[in-house]
Amino acid sequence: MELTELTQLVGIMVAGAASMRAAISVASFAGRRYQFARQEKKYVAEFRSATAGIFQSRQIQRQEVPLTWQGKRKFRVVNRVYENYQQDICSFYLEPNDGRSIPPFRPGQFLTFSVPVPGQAEPVTRCYSLSESPAAGGYYRVTVKRLAPPEGAPEGTPPGQSSDYFHTHLQPGSIVEAYAPSGSFCLDEHSGRPVVLIAGGVGITPIVSMLNSLIAARSRREIWLFYGVRNRAEHAMYTHLQQLAARVRNLRVVVAYSRPTNSCRHNVDYHLRGHITEQLLRPVLEGRDCEIYMCGPASMMRSLTAGFKNIGVPAENVRSEAFDPASVAPAETPVKAPEHNARQTFQIEFARSGKRVEWQSGDGSILELAMANGVKARCGCRQGVCGTCAIALKNGEVEYERTPEKTPAPGKCLPCVAQPQSDLVLDM
Ligand SMILES: Cc1cc2nc3c(=O)[nH]c(=O)nc-3n(C[C@H](O)[C@H](O)[C@H](O)COP(=O)(O)OP(=O)(O)OC[C@H]3O[C@@H](n4cnc5c(N)ncnc54)[C@H](O)[C@@H]3O)c2cc1C
Repeated sequence: MELTELTQLVGIMVAGAASMRAAISVASFAGRRYQFARQEKKYVAEFRSATAGIFQSRQIQRQEVPLTWQGKRKFRVVNRVYENYQQDICSFYLEPNDGRSIPPFRPGQFLTFSVPVPGQAEPVTRCYSLSESPAAGGYYRVTVKRLAPPEGAPEGTPPGQSSDYFHTHLQPGSIVEAYAPSGSFCLDEHSGRPVVLIAGGVGITPIVSMLNSLIAARSRREIWLFYGVRNRAEHAMYTHLQQLAARVRNLRVVVAYSRPTNSCRHNVDYHLRGHITEQLLRPVLEGRDCEIYMCGPASMMRSLTAGFKNIGVPAENVRSEAFDPASVAPAETPVKAPEHNARQTFQIEFARSGKRVEWQSGDGSILELAMANGVKARCGCRQGVCGTCAIALKNGEVEYERTPEKTPAPGKCLPCVAQPQSDLVLDM
């Protein structure tokens, strides 16, 4: 199907969704009123008796479940499941090794892992989105794509350290350490507005957590999922998404394959050849007050961020998550223009490592400078989200390239998004 045809189809789906909502409300008001009144008493009695135990145990759970935990916590892998044909995306089901409850999280949040990569002196720190609805309860699920060396990289280039570790070493029974859920890319569960979920590649992980949460809550919101991948081999959570699309009447799923192969079935596996574009989204978004949640590669995030502006979507209606700093959508997290003179330089002392280096404009963040000079630094998201890199600022002042999502504690700074504003002494 061509893009124009699909755009028309999306338009028809929009109209269909509106008339469906109207029909549902008329039917529920007129047709079911009498029946409901008759059965109401019976239902109320049944509901009370069926839920009495649940409410009691929820109350107990509420007392037992701490809201978070400090530092690292050990988790046991209880299951692992490949999520695509290509078997480079795998879900890991984790239960706390201490046997205690796990705190709830918000759909869209992530865990930060400390990964003991063989051959590395220090564990590497990486974030992985929670990919299941919090309503699933009792376990956490993260879904990790094993990163192969980039196309054209010299022979011998290693795969991604952490993602390769997950795929190669984590089997049922393995232990992995994680920090508590965090992140502010979260579904607004109290809103009633239409929700438009947009995912590219492995960016489906937080999006599917949101989708599953909406469905677990039996939300009656109009839900759209636009999912872009290369082809069927890469298509993650295929069966799950197909089943939801068939079963949930207020959900519309549109899948775009950028590189379909001959075995990819058009209008079965995917609807559109190409990418998720402004043109495709326009009929759903134009003139409507929708909430948009987006996670995907840099190119998609950038072009759609510009597209939303063209369509007239208010910036506050769009929330996005970037898995790598290059994908941070410019409209959402503006990089501050350095306020200092372009030629100005500062002396940076990394006190713990006993190193003193010069920072100049163009050297990037303090974290980049530290790493380039062999200073050991713990970091996760590298975009001021996870807070893993927080260190004590012993002397001097920093400014932030973008406002950190996690405000550092007094006397600390987040070197991954900080640049010096004066000479500095840092506890690194
Ligand atoms: C908030 C957040 C949530 C996230 N959620 C998810 C998620 O749900 N699922 C998911 O899969 N990811 C997620 N990520 C991304 C994840 O955190 C990691 O960034 C990702 O797994 C890559 O880490 P790695 O250690 O495997 O790769 P790295 O070791 O960092 O390597 C990255 C790439 O560089 C290549 N490389 C290594 N050495 C060289 C070299 N010398 N020259 C050239 N190339 C080289 C590797 O082959 C690899 O392709 C998330 C990130 C954030 C910030």
